[in-house]
Amino acid sequence: MTARYYVEQPIETDVAVLTATEAHHLLHVMRGRAGDEVTLFDGQGFEFLARVTRCGRHEVELAVVERREVNRELSRRLVAAVALPKGDRQQWLVEKLVELGVAELIPLQTERSVAEPGTKALERLRRGVIEASKQCGRNRLMQIGEPRAWRRYVAEATTGCRLLAHPGHQSADMSIVSSQLAVQFAVGPEGGFTDEEANLAAGAGWQPVSLGERILRVETAAVALAARLSL
Ligand code: SAH
Repeated sequence: MTARYYVEQPIETDVAVLTATEAHHLLHVMRGRAGDEVTLFDGQGFEFLARVTRCGRHEVELAVVERREVNRELSRRLVAAVALPKGDRQQWLVEKLVELGVAELIPLQTERSVAEPGTKALERLRRGVIEASKQCGRNRLMQIGEPRAWRRYVAEATTGCRLLAHPGHQSADMSIVSSQLAVQFAVGPEGGFTDEEANLAAGAGWQPVSLGERILRVETAAVALAARLSL
C-alpha cells in the first residue's frame, strides 16, 4: 500500500493540500518529493490517488489523479461504549478499535471511572484515530463521541442489540448478534460496573456477556468483544 495521508477538507477539485501533521509526515518522515504518488483519504469513505506537485516548508500541494470509493467498513455498525482506562492504554484501545472496524467509541462516565477525558484528551484520541486509519487502510474515521454518563446512555440507547460486558454473568447466546446490522456494547472501568449500574442496563434490555473466567483489563475486554463482533 502506498503511503496514506489524511485530508480533512473535502477534496472537490483536482488539487489537494496537506498541512500541519500530514505535511510533516510526507516531507520529513517519508521524505516525499515532487512527482511521488501517494494515497489521500478524506475520512468520509473516499480515497484518492494523487501526485505531489509542490513541496513547501510546511505544506504540500498535490494533483488529484483519481477518486475512488473504497469501502473497508464492517457490514454492521458497531458502537463501543467504554469507561476509558488511563494514559497510553487509551491510545492502544483506540488504535485496536479502529483496526477492528468499530464505527464509534463513546467514552463512558461510570461510578468507578478513573479517566474522564477533557477536550485535549479527546483531541489526542481523534488524532489516534487518524494515525490508525492511515496504517490500516480504513477510509472512514471511527467517531469519538462526547463522553456520556452511563445512566444517560442507558436511557438514550434504547433500541437494537446491546451487550454489557460483565464478568461472572451467565453469558447471552452470542448467536443473537449474527443477523444484527447494528450492535452496541459496553465495557466498564477497572473497578467494574456497580450492581446498580448493571441492573439498570439489564432492566433496559442490555444482554450480559461473559468473556471467560479471567478478569480482563478494560481495553482487552473491549478489543476481545469488538473482535468477536467484527467478522
Ligand atoms: N473488578 C471488576 C473487574 C472489572 S474489569 C469486576 O469484577 O467487575 C473491567 C471491565 O472489563 C468490566 O467492567 C467488564 O465490562 C469487562 N470485563 C473484564 N473481564 C471480563 C469478563 N471475563 N467477562 C466480561 N466482561 C469482562
